[in-house]
Amino acid sequence: MTNKVLLNGRFVEEQEALVPYNDRGYNFGDGIYEYIRIYDGHFFTLQEHFERFLRSASELNIDLDETIESLTEKAEALVKENNVENGGVYMQVTRGAAPRDHAFPGPDVKPQMMAFTRSYGRPLEALENGINAVTVEDIRWLRCDIKSLNLLGNVLSKEYAVKYNASEAIQHRGETVTEGASSNVYAIKDGVIYTHPTDNFILNGITRKVIKRIANEQNIPFKEETFTVDFLKQADEVIVSSTSVEVMPVIKLDGEAVGNGQVGPITRLLQKGFEQKINESH
Ligand code: PMP
Repeated sequence: MTNKVLLNGRFVEEQEALVPYNDRGYNFGDGIYEYIRIYDGHFFTLQEHFERFLRSASELNIDLDETIESLTEKAEALVKENNVENGGVYMQVTRGAAPRDHAFPGPDVKPQMMAFTRSYGRPLEALENGINAVTVEDIRWLRCDIKSLNLLGNVLSKEYAVKYNASEAIQHRGETVTEGASSNVYAIKDGVIYTHPTDNFILNGITRKVIKRIANEQNIPFKEETFTVDFLKQADEVIVSSTSVEVMPVIKLDGEAVGNGQVGPITRLLQKGFEQKINESH
């Protein structure tokens, strides 16, 4: 089966989806991206993802001639072309190709857009049994709210997790827990969910928004407050969340059991609520 790539408005075969050597995404990581989940042929929280995409572009002064509607059309066309039932669509934009110079190129240089799809199911086994995580110092830049292509800090954190047989690295700036290498982080203590407030130190996760909504609907206190690594290690339950891993329980942290080592009741409530949201979305 072919898997087409959408490159600047054209469907091309994967091996033909090539970009110029001087594309600023390639030279500087000068671009932004989004990743949107597809369940049973339907996008999940598409509007929120494209709102964030446009915000990321705007924060970096990338002059994107797109709207939520035009982006949706493109994503829908690609998903149809590749027959994706369950999976996701990745979309990125770079500032364009121009002779290498740190400063922005002139207005004649146009942003370059690329999108591809992937087909796969939900991570049901991990959602049921939980994952291992490790803690690692957060060495990223100070605009983690922008979903930029500069992911070196995240890449190094994730590789650290892999080295210690964990699925996720939970990052901290000094004592303060920020977020995972590719997820938001929650500590649950005495029936209260704690998570880092949405500022420049974390990505404002779309899954986080859904979890906040579920917590509010179910009257589970949801506190957007910073907490320490020690607090995380004393938590009854720990969760990481993202578009790909949904509401993922962490049952081991730095080799030690979280709480009683089992997936906890609030995690289960949030997972159930999340499944309902998926079902309501189509
Ligand atoms: N933080 C980081 C650093 C991420 O890469 C991701 C995954 N995109 C998230 C948080 C979770 O965001 P979302 O729920 O929108 O996928």
